[in-house]
Formats: sequence, structure tokens, C-alpha cells
Amino acid sequence: MRKIYLDNASTTQLRPEVVAEMTKILSEDFGNPSSTHSFGRSSKVLLETARKSIAKQINATASEIIFTSCGTEANNWILRSAVKDLKVERIITSKIEHHAVLHTAQVLQSEFGIAVDYVALLPNGEIDFTDLVELLSQDKKTLVSLMHVNNEIGTVLNLEKAVRISHDYNALFHTDTVQSIGKTEIDVQHLGVDFLVASAHKFHGPKGVGFAYVKKNSGLQPLFFGGEQEKGLRAGTEAVHQIAGMARALELSYEHLIEERNYISGLKSYLISQLEIDFPEFKLNGSEDGLYNIANVLLPLSDDKTGMILFHLDMKGIAVSRGSACQSGSVKPSHVLAEILDKEDVIKPSLRISFSHYNTKEDVEALMEALRSI
Ligand code: PLP
Repeated sequence: MRKIYLDNASTTQLRPEVVAEMTKILSEDFGNPSSTHSFGRSSKVLLETARKSIAKQINATASEIIFTSCGTEANNWILRSAVKDLKVERIITSKIEHHAVLHTAQVLQSEFGIAVDYVALLPNGEIDFTDLVELLSQDKKTLVSLMHVNNEIGTVLNLEKAVRISHDYNALFHTDTVQSIGKTEIDVQHLGVDFLVASAHKFHGPKGVGFAYVKKNSGLQPLFFGGEQEKGLRAGTEAVHQIAGMARALELSYEHLIEERNYISGLKSYLISQLEIDFPEFKLNGSEDGLYNIANVLLPLSDDKTGMILFHLDMKGIAVSRGSACQSGSVKPSHVLAEILDKEDVIKPSLRISFSHYNTKEDVEALMEALRSI
């Protein structure tokens, strides 16, 4: 059976060049980058070359890139240190952030007694900027934490505007760009963000590695202790092969960005056109202008078919994600869809279909065929 992977917002297939780079390092460059002998120095060169390359892609300076084990760690670190060390008294975020931000903010609220305010959302899941201004006008040391692209519905934040407004009110600005980096241009100098977080496995790099962009002189303190790595900000021997793989993956993503964006946008449009034919009452959850690789669709299927849909697709070798987790009856609905859909729609079957350049029109056709036969 041909297997079809349409769940690229969950994780992505590694590019062959990334695998080649990583396996070469695994077999040839095992030195610890902190060692002063030649083995260590070779690994240190690889590490610092990766740092420079990543910095270049997002117009940062190399010293502003700190490697972490994943996006979740980087989000936890920045939010926690902002409260603990930078004395932030309030976090403004939204109810549709990834749990790496939402749960961290909630823990910090109970641990440090800070305020957590949630900015209002428009019906399509976009941020209500009028409400953001309203919240910011209360005078408190604040960190605004808003994701660039939502991982479930693909809504895109106008980062430039969000940073400008936040800075107008002297708030710090953190953004989770796990779903957007490598898929859209990001220039940290131009945007002026204070903190940004990324994860390699979302842009055809390896799992278990990510990075934080931390603007110069931020005052952030470490989450872990026990080593001088990453200028003392992130103790622990660096996973050189993963870091180099991440840098290569990001280089390739930006090298091919224009052609891959056009190609993937075409696949999404094709999916929408096919849904319009077979399921004319389907709805796109979130904004019409969501990122080009994610389509979260609510399907007009009867209740008896709702529970079976993912199982049915999986049996046919097709991998997509639940848009709403209600379908099994035992799990909670998606916190994102629960915010933007009304009660009736949230229990209907929604699917998140997310593409990469490895997908084809035939994949969309196979998905449609499988959906029609439910
Ligand atoms: N933030 C967003 C928006 C995500 O989509 C994810 C992954 O699902 C994460 C953070 C977590 O990243 P990682 O898997 O690297 O911990």
C-alpha cells in the first residue's frame, strides 16, 4: 500500500542532504566542542558555522542564536526567565497558542503570581489588535507572547504590527515561529522581536533540536545549570550533528522557498477545489489567508461517520491530523477550535491537512477518494 503523509505541521521528512550532513558528522566528527584538542576544535567549527548560517537566514548576529533541544524548551526558557530574571509582571498571550506557551504561562502565574491576559480573537482566529492595545495600556512590566503561524489552523499574525504595538507600550515581544520559520521570510532586525523560537523537525530537519533568537543584551538567564555551553545560557554538551543538520535544513528551506511555496500553495488550492466539488458544505476553519501549507477543514459528515474518519484514513495509509479531537469521544476538543468554532461545529469532524514539497496532486486525489468512500 502506498502511504501518504499529509501531516507536515506535526513533523516533516528529513531532506536527503540533511541526512547526509548528519551521518557524516556522526561518523567523522564525534569530538566535544568544548574540548581544546583538535577533535574538539573540529566540532566547535561545525557548531559555530551552523550558528552563523542560521543567524544569516533570519538576519540576526551569530551570538544571538542559542541552541536548545526543541521548540518547547526554548519557549519554556524565555517565558520563565522573563518572569524570574527580567521581572515581567504580566504575560499577554492568546488562548490559541501552543501548549508549550499556554501551559508555561499558567505555571508561571501560579508560581510567581504574575498576571496572564489573553488577547481577544477575531472569528477567523486572528488577533484583535484593538484589544491588544487596550490590554497594553494598563501599566505593568509585560511580555507579549504571540505565535507567528498557528499550528492547527494556519492563521498568520502580522508580526511587524504586533511587535510595533508592543514596543510602543514598552512591552517585550516573544514569538513562537515553529510553524513559520523556513516557510516564510523572517528578518529579526526588521521586525525588532526580542525573542523568537524555532524547531528543526518542522522544516525537514531532525527532531530533538531547536533554537532561540535572543536579542543582544536581553538579560535572560539560563534554565539549566552545569556547563558553560552556549555562553552559559544553555548548559549541556551540544548535539553537533543535530545542530548542523538543522542549519543545513534551514539553508535548503530558504534556498527553495519561492518554488516550494508556489508548489505547495497549488496543492492547497487543488484540495480546496476538490472539497468544493465533493463536499460543497465543507468549511475552512480559521482564516482564508492562512499559511499556504495548512488547511483545517470541517466536513459535513453525519455523526456515525465522525468517530471513524481518522481510523478509516489510516487504514488506507493516509496520515492527517484531527482538527478537532472530539471525534473519539474520549479526548478533549482541540483548544484552538474550541475558541473559534461554535458549540455545534466543534463536535463535527475537522481534519488538519498539512502539506510539504514531497506531496503531489495524486496524494490529494487519494485523500479525496478515501473521504468520498467513508
Ligand atoms: N510551537 C508550535 C507552534 C508547534 O507547532 C510545536 C510542535 O508541535 C511546538 C511549539 C513544539 O516544538 P517541539 O516539538 O520542537 O518541542
